[in-house]
Amino acid sequence: MSRRIPGAPAVRHLAGARIRGVAVLGSTGSIGTTALRVLERQRASFRVDALTAYGNALLLEDQAGRFSPAYVGLVQNGGTYPAEWQVGPECLVTAATLPSVDIVVNAVVGAAGLDATLAALRAGKRVALANKETLVTAGELVTAAATSGGGEIVPVDSEHSAILQCLGRRPASDIRRLILTASGGPFRGWSRDQLERATVADALRHPTWSMGRKITVDSATLANKALEVIEAHYLFGVPYDRIEVVVHPQSVVHSFVEFIDGNVLAQVGMPTMELPVLYALTHPERLPDDGVPPFDPVTASPLTFERVRVDDFPALALGMAAGRAGGAAPAIFNAANEQAVALFLEGLMTFAGIARAIESALGSLAGLPAGDRQALKAADTAARAHVRQRAGGAVGASAIQGGAGC
Ligand code: NDP
Ligand code: MG
Repeated sequence: MSRRIPGAPAVRHLAGARIRGVAVLGSTGSIGTTALRVLERQRASFRVDALTAYGNALLLEDQAGRFSPAYVGLVQNGGTYPAEWQVGPECLVTAATLPSVDIVVNAVVGAAGLDATLAALRAGKRVALANKETLVTAGELVTAAATSGGGEIVPVDSEHSAILQCLGRRPASDIRRLILTASGGPFRGWSRDQLERATVADALRHPTWSMGRKITVDSATLANKALEVIEAHYLFGVPYDRIEVVVHPQSVVHSFVEFIDGNVLAQVGMPTMELPVLYALTHPERLPDDGVPPFDPVTASPLTFERVRVDDFPALALGMAAGRAGGAAPAIFNAANEQAVALFLEGLMTFAGIARAIESALGSLAGLPAGDRQALKAADTAARAHVRQRAGGAVGASAIQGGAGC
């Protein structure tokens, strides 16, 4: 059934009516498949030029059949795949810098997406950024790459998309405060004792969002919200003491912007990533799209807000402190978290151990240099090694998807 408003045009094009070329990095994941659903509906405005995955060759082949991209890349060498695919980690940068590509949807999980983000921005592309770890690990380098190459970062993260949409064309100097909403994750009402005993299955049971495993655990620890505070700092140029977090269990209000005159704007919508993905592709324009059920305030009611239990979810304060400290601290926070989450998912670390591992890494490695890509890579590697060693040394080099750091 069509939900088109009478009088609204059936087909609309982006400025210049030129079809934009899109590369989807991490196309087989939760955001990647969401992006392809949106792109499928928007074939009049976008063409999929490149797809990459880590190791899921089966789904990648199916996607390649549906979209016929000129370029397909697979990071992990193993198994069978069509001869024309490029295999190896360099496929991310190649896909992100193809001349025909205007927009790179970076939906890779973890700091492994960093080089592609940097390369795309240096090549003047728009990066529709889901891969927040990129901005946390190397916020200054990423921002500088956008400035030097003429590229732009448009957030896919729902909170940051909300802020961008509330801001419109207003400058950062109009902002008094950003208030990011957090669902509170599956453990919102859990006691500290219960949190000590939380299992992987418990942590993966997110109440409002369906997402990849790593970010689902990050939502349970609130490390995700720390990553998002740092992300907001770099995206919008707002100092940390003016970025706050509030728990909003329904995930309908995606964030608030308080302006210097006291007025507050919020963006609302049902919790589906299709909306921020589409907006990241079209910003600052909008295209008609009827893929998401219409918003109904009555169904969405009631909307409630709570303070964050900061003492019970220490990863949030640790991450915010790392953001404030700057230098290599955000990269250490991110890498320690990635490694700890990987160990938790493998059953080699407790849920509460994730925050303890991050705290230990930040305490031991504070002060590492952070001037360039190499220094940040060294900090990332040191943080992962620290967490593995602390977990017993028996863990080997495994990290998220086989030790792929930044
Ligand atoms: P998933 O785990 O579902 O998907 C990750 C994707 O990246 C897959 O395509 C995977 O390939 C690929 N990948 C994994 N590791 C590597 C690597 N080392 N190098 C290259 N590609 C790799 O994650 P999500 O889609 O949930 O999250 C992606 C990013 O988006 C994260 O940064 C997350 O924080 C962010 N985000 C996610 C949201 C969500 O709703 N899911 C919401 C907001 C932000 P393969 O399938 O072959 O393993
Ligand atoms: Mg988010």
